[in-house]
This record gives sequence, structure tokens and C-alpha cells, in this order.
Amino acid sequence: MNETNLKIISTRVGYSNSILLVNGSNSIIIDTGVRGYFHNFKTQLNQFNLKPTDIKLIILTHTHYDHTGNLRPLAELTGAKVLVHKNEFENLKNGFIKIPTGQGTYSRLISKLGRIVYPKYASPKPFVANLINENEFDLREFGIEGKIISTPGHTEGSQSVLLGKILISGDTFINLPNGIIFPHFANNPKMLLETWQKLFDMGIEEIYPGHGKPLQVEKAMEEFERWRKRII
Ligand SMILES: [Zn+2]
Repeated sequence: MNETNLKIISTRVGYSNSILLVNGSNSIIIDTGVRGYFHNFKTQLNQFNLKPTDIKLIILTHTHYDHTGNLRPLAELTGAKVLVHKNEFENLKNGFIKIPTGQGTYSRLISKLGRIVYPKYASPKPFVANLINENEFDLREFGIEGKIISTPGHTEGSQSVLLGKILISGDTFINLPNGIIFPHFANNPKMLLETWQKLFDMGIEEIYPGHGKPLQVEKAMEEFERWRKRII
């Protein structure tokens, strides 16, 4: 395979990102956005001259509803295999995931209210995945020089795609217009910071976050210092 042919296309699907790895008949979609924006995917396939069956794999960075919203129709349209982390396979199968804990006063309140008012708020629609990542998953079998790595913290089964120095992170990083990089909802903030440290040590340079525009790692490193003082 020729790595220079690989294109990374980040698109907003509702308020979440979906990333298309354009790689001919071995293309991959990472996350499926918020439900109700299915036409986005069809438009995008046309734009890059891809047939639905050129999508061979759908990777879920985690199973929150805003990343799994179009999973079922997309899996049906493409016939792609669906890969989830082993820690969230059951959540996806049962269509339930616990509401993450908010990290600020406001998000803590939302989280608490959510638990009471609508316990399935953050849940995906039930789906049985075909492939499981236990820790690392090599993408070479899809002709891509890269791998899926476990990046727990936002959720227990959060995972990211690493392509050289580029990380497609799901909600391990976000990049909101108000400057927030550290996700305001995280099941285990301390673990998330440890994951960040590990990723910095690996030398990542550019991040495609779960929400917002791509960012350089330096911006996340500044935020890391602020949260480290608060949490560790
Ligand atoms: Zn999430």
C-alpha cells in the first residue's frame, strides 16, 4: 500500500465528528455521529468517488450515542465490519452505557439530572459488533499503516486510531470554540490524564478530536498542566 494516498477527512455529523479514511476499496469510517444526518455519509462517499462497499471497516472510538447515531444504517449500507473496544462490546450490544461524570459544576449537574430524568440519555442503539480490540489492533490488514490503541478515561473502552504522528482520538480530546480540550464528561478523569501523558510520550503531533476542529498537540499540553494541578 502507498501511505501517501491515504486521506483523512473529518466531517461534522450533528455536533460530533466522523472521520473518513479514504483508502480506495479499503476505506474506513471512524465514528458515525449523531442520528439523523445519514445523508452526510452518502454525499461524502460520492465526493470521494467511493462505493458504499469500499468502506470495509467502521471503528467506534467509544459507544456514546453521539458517536454511534448512524451506526446501524451505515453498517447496512456498506456491509462493513464494526469494531469496538472489548470494554464496550456489551454496552453496545445491550444499548446501554452509563452517563459519564461531569468535570465542572455545570456538567456535574447535567450529569446528575440526566441520571435521574433519562438514564438512557448517553446510550447507543443496540448493535452487535463483529470485531473487538482488546488492547491494540493493527490496521495493516486494511492496507493502512496504523493501528487502534486503547485510550481509556473518557470511557473505559475509549480507543483512538494512530497514523504515524496523527491521532484520531474520539472524545479522548475535544476542541470546543470556548477553548475546552479536556472533555467535560469523563468517567475517570485521572485515567484520562494518564492516557494523555502516554500519548504525549508517544510523540503525537496532530489530533483529530471527537468534537471540533483538528488541533496541534501543544494546545493539549497546555491544558494538561491545568488539569494535572486539579486532579492529580
Ligand atoms: Zn463521548
